[in-house]
Amino acid sequence: NNHQAIMPNNTYQEIFEAQSKNQFAVANAPISERKQKLKQLLQAIEVTFRQEIRDALLADYGKHPAEVDLSEVFPVTSELKHAISRLNNWTSPQSVDTPLAFIGSSSWIQYEPKGVCLIISPWNFPINLTFGPLVSAIAAGNTVIIKPSEHTPHASTLIKKIIASLFNPNEIAVVEGATEASTELLKLPFHHIFFTGSPAIGKIIMAAAAKNLTSFTLELGGKSPTIVDESANIEAAAKRTVWGKYTNNGQVCIAPDYVFVHESKKTAFVEALQKQIQAFFGENPNKSDNLTKIVNSHHLGRLKGYLDQALSVGAKVITGGKLNAIDNSFEPTVLENVPMDADMMTNEIFGPFLPIYTYNNISEPIDFINKNEKPLALYIYSKDSKNTKHILKNTRAGSTCINNNDVQFFNNNLPFGGVNNSGFGKSHGKFGFEAFSNARSVYKQHIPGALELLMPPYNNFKKTMIDLTIKWF
Ligand code: NAD
Repeated sequence: NNHQAIMPNNTYQEIFEAQSKNQFAVANAPISERKQKLKQLLQAIEVTFRQEIRDALLADYGKHPAEVDLSEVFPVTSELKHAISRLNNWTSPQSVDTPLAFIGSSSWIQYEPKGVCLIISPWNFPINLTFGPLVSAIAAGNTVIIKPSEHTPHASTLIKKIIASLFNPNEIAVVEGATEASTELLKLPFHHIFFTGSPAIGKIIMAAAAKNLTSFTLELGGKSPTIVDESANIEAAAKRTVWGKYTNNGQVCIAPDYVFVHESKKTAFVEALQKQIQAFFGENPNKSDNLTKIVNSHHLGRLKGYLDQALSVGAKVITGGKLNAIDNSFEPTVLENVPMDADMMTNEIFGPFLPIYTYNNISEPIDFINKNEKPLALYIYSKDSKNTKHILKNTRAGSTCINNNDVQFFNNNLPFGGVNNSGFGKSHGKFGFEAFSNARSVYKQHIPGALELLMPPYNNFKKTMIDLTIKWF
C-alpha cells in the first residue's frame, strides 16, 4: 500500500502544484475524515511502525528503545489523542460579541487551513519533531511537504515509508535531502513554513519566507539556563537536571545548557549530580546502552573542540570528559570554571557538557541571562515562591519549568516555542492548530445597522452623530 509510488519521480514543483490543486478537496473534506486520518496516523505510530521507529533510532545514534518510546513516540501519540478529541471544538465557528454600535450584525471566527505547508525538521528528535507539527497541520486541514533531516537517515527513510503508507503525495509528501533540497523547496510559495532547527538556519528560512510573504513558525534553540536557589530540594534538582540533560545525551533543544547554583549549595548539588549520573549510566557511561550516542563524527568533533578549548582557558572537569570516536559515545561531563567567553558558553552546547556556576545574589544569574539571547527554556529549582516570581518577572524565555526539566514540552495545553532568537510562533495542541490555520473573521449584517445613518453626504447632523459615536461607543 505505497501511495507515494503513484508519483515516483516528481520534481518539487510538481508535488507543490499537485498539492495546490488538491488543497480545497483536503480542506473541505468532512471533519470526521480529518479525524480518521489522525486515527490512522495514531495506529501507525503507536502500533504498526512502533518497532521500526525504535530500530531506526537505534541504528541512527544508539538511542535506547525505552527512550525512543518516551521521547519520540509518546509526544506524538499524546498530540494525536489531544487533537482527535478536540477537533470538533477547534474547527467550529467561534462566535464573538457584537459591540453596541454594530447592533444588527453577528460575527464569528472561522479557522481555515493555510493551504500548502512545508515542515522542515531536525535530527535530534526526528519522529517527534516531524509528526508533532504534522498532527497540527492535518488537524487544520492542510496539505504538507515534509523535509526531514539528512543526519538521521534511517529515521528519514522510515518517515517517508510511514507517510507513503497513509497518504497520496498530493496531500502529504516527504522529500529527503540536505541543504540543496531545502533550498529548492524554499523557493516555492508555500502558505506556511514550520521549521525546527538552529537559530542560524532559522534566519535563512525567514529570509526565504520573506520573498513570498509566507507565514512561518520557527522552533529554534539556544542556551537554556537552570537556576538552583538556596531553598531548592537538591536531590530532586540534581536527579531531574541529569534526566533533562542526558536524555538524548544533551542533544535536546530545551536541555539545561548550564547551571547557576547558590554558593551555599554547590558542593551538595555537584555531589548529587555525580551520584545521579552514576545511578543512570553506571561506572562507565560510554558503555551504557541507556546513554544515547552523539549523532555523528562532525558533532563529536565540534563537542571535543568545545571541551579542549574550555580546558585550555582554565575550565576544570568535575566528572566525565571521555569520548570514544569509534562509536561516537561521549560521557556526561560536569565542569566548573568555564570562562563565560569560552566557545562552550558562546554557543548552544547541544551535547553532554554541564558547566556549573555559583552565585550569591540572584541578580547575578538574572543579569547574565538578560545579557544573552532570550532562551527557549529557563529552569528554576526553588521552594521559595517569592524568589521564583522574581526570576519569572525579571527574565524572558519561551517556557519555564519550575522544579523539573523538559516536561513543559509534554503538556499539550501549553504553547511550546521560543521568543526572538529561540523562535517565533507556538506549537502543540490548540496552538499548533492555530499556527497552521488562518483565523478568518466573518461579519454578517442581518438588519440595517446604525452605520447607515453616518454615510455620506455628510452634514452637521451626521457630524454630530459621529462625534457621539466616538464619545459613547
Ligand atoms: P539545523 O538548523 O542544522 O537543521 C534543521 C533542518 O534544516 C534540517 O532538516 C536541515 O536539513 C535543514 N537545513 C540545514 N541547512 C539548511 C539551509 N542552509 N537552508 C535550508 N534548510 C537547511 O538544526 P539541527 O542540527 O538539525 O538541530 C539542532 C538545532 O535545532 C538546535 O539549535 C536545537 O536547539 C534546535 N531545535 C529546536 C527545537 C524546538 O522545538 N525549538 C527542537 C529541536 C531542535
